[in-house]
Parts: sequence; C-alpha cells; structure tokens
Amino acid sequence: MGAHRRRCDWCNNGTPIVRDMEPVNPDYQYWCEECARALIIKGDPIETYRELEGEPIYGRLLDEHCTLKRFYQFARA
Ligand SMILES: [Zn+2]
Repeated sequence: MGAHRRRCDWCNNGTPIVRDMEPVNPDYQYWCEECARALIIKGDPIETYRELEGEPIYGRLLDEHCTLKRFYQFARA
C-alpha cells in the first residue's frame, strides 16, 4: 500500500470532487460527482462544501438544479 487517491466515501469508487465540511455522518465527507449529483436531485445537497478539483464542479451541479438554491443557503468553506 502506498499513498493512494482518496475515493468517494459513498460509492467507494469515484474520485471525490467535493467535501462536505459539516457532515451529518463523519464517515461521509468526500463525494464524487455522480453521488453529489444524486444528493442534489434527492433534495439533500451538501450545504457547506469545499471544491476539491480547483474548479467549481459542485457549484455547476447546483446551478443545473438551481431551484434548490431558494431553499438552501450554501457556503464555501
Ligand atoms: Zn461516489
């Protein structure tokens, strides 16, 4: 085992693109794009997040589903 890239805490497969800075469950902090999108669609988006890839991938997912922005306040940690 050497240093390995962190994987999505939810599917344990995808490359994380966003980190939940105030996770309800500390075991689920890192999310890949697919899982993050599923959360948004489910109506349970990450509210305080940090982008991990240096570009606003999660921010774009939120924009795609922007109706949620009326109901949640998002913060960049
Ligand atoms: Zn995932």
